[in-house]
Amino acid sequence: MKQRSIVTYTLAGIIGFGSSFAYIGDASASKLSDLQNEQNEIVNKRSNVNESIEKKNNQINKLESEKSGLELQVEKLERDITATNDKIGQKEKQIADTKAEIEKLKAEIEELKLKIEKRDELLKERARNIQQNGGSVNYIDVFLGSESFGDFIDRFSAVSTIVSADREIMEEQQRDKDKLEENKIKVEQKLADLNNMLKELEELKAGLDSQKAQKAEAVKQLEAEKQHAETEKLSLEEEERILSAQNAAIQEAIKAENARIEQERKEREAAEAAAAAAAAKQAEQAQQSQQAPQSRPSAGGSKGAPAAPKKQYSPPSNSGPSVGAPPVSSGMFTRPAAGSFSSGYGPRSGGFHYGLDIAAGGTVPIVAAADGIVIRSEFSSSYGEVIYITHRINGQTYTTVYAHMRKGSRTVGSGQAVKKGQVIGSMGNTGQSFGQHLHFEIHVGGWNGAKSNAVNPRQYIN
Ligand SMILES: [Zn+2]
Repeated sequence: MKQRSIVTYTLAGIIGFGSSFAYIGDASASKLSDLQNEQNEIVNKRSNVNESIEKKNNQINKLESEKSGLELQVEKLERDITATNDKIGQKEKQIADTKAEIEKLKAEIEELKLKIEKRDELLKERARNIQQNGGSVNYIDVFLGSESFGDFIDRFSAVSTIVSADREIMEEQQRDKDKLEENKIKVEQKLADLNNMLKELEELKAGLDSQKAQKAEAVKQLEAEKQHAETEKLSLEEEERILSAQNAAIQEAIKAENARIEQERKEREAAEAAAAAAAAKQAEQAQQSQQAPQSRPSAGGSKGAPAAPKKQYSPPSNSGPSVGAPPVSSGMFTRPAAGSFSSGYGPRSGGFHYGLDIAAGGTVPIVAAADGIVIRSEFSSSYGEVIYITHRINGQTYTTVYAHMRKGSRTVGSGQAVKKGQVIGSMGNTGQSFGQHLHFEIHVGGWNGAKSNAVNPRQYIN
């Protein structure tokens, strides 16, 4: 037997199921006690497995409550992000408003600057005129220069008007300057406010980014924990399935063995009664022919009695007429179907082929490769109509897989015990299959998605 380490699959080696489960054949007196020992072993193992199932259930519950906690955290983060986004929106609007205000102020300042420049020009012109007139308004000069008093009044009025206008212009200029200064301070304050708002906004954005990163990490962790819990759950379910199937099977085997023993007892009693009757008749005949010269030696007891016919126990046959089924071999596994080996185990285009393909036309029966218990009988998108059987041979667990079976042809269900060579269905083309064939896998240990326990079936079929 090929030795292989089985560490990848939790189910491997859990089930202690002696090869004497194959109870058909020689009927030894120790058979029943062997079966009972095995049942005790299964009961102990079930108790251990149930204990670890309980532990794993607790673990799953704990993980689920942690998951709920994380989901609440994620919801809170999402609310915070929404709130922060609202704040950012508000700040952006305020910044836009302030910028518009600054633009308006800048325009006003420009306008004022232009006015002041114009008034500067005007004042300079007045200053030039006053300088040309001698630096001050001389009323005598104005009077003496007048052609008439009327002319003087006109001249005087013009001078005072000019002076008054100068004063007004200067006052107005001063007010404009004050306004400009005021506006400048306002603009500077607005700019400072704007900078503060920008800073606040940047801080908010940084906080938001950090929260987003935190959320992403929480979601990632949540997803990993969830997947881990689901994987464990699947393993537990598989364990439970195999254990209950094997428990049912061993109980059936004990029942069958008890029935066989009872039948044997009845046959033995009948044979003993027949032997006793024959002995009595013989004794009677011997007494009657005592006078005869030719005396036969006495048979004495049941020594000369005809032996009780040893009845061969026949297996419960639910295989039906298996026309075309290959002959059942005496090796570890028998060939599961007749036909040609169309594709072997090993690398092939597009990946690795973990099984052996056997192809044939027409209605081709598929048989169990060895005694065992059906652990799955189902339809899957890849395997199509498929049956998984677990076997216990010489202290080692094996799993065989029969894929792409004909639709509606599966004759055995999960938990059912099957015999080597028993028909379990017929060859088909279901699932990911192109042309009628049987895809047959052997795993040393349990089956797993990675198919890490798969071996070349050709080396096991004999
Ligand atoms: Zn295949």
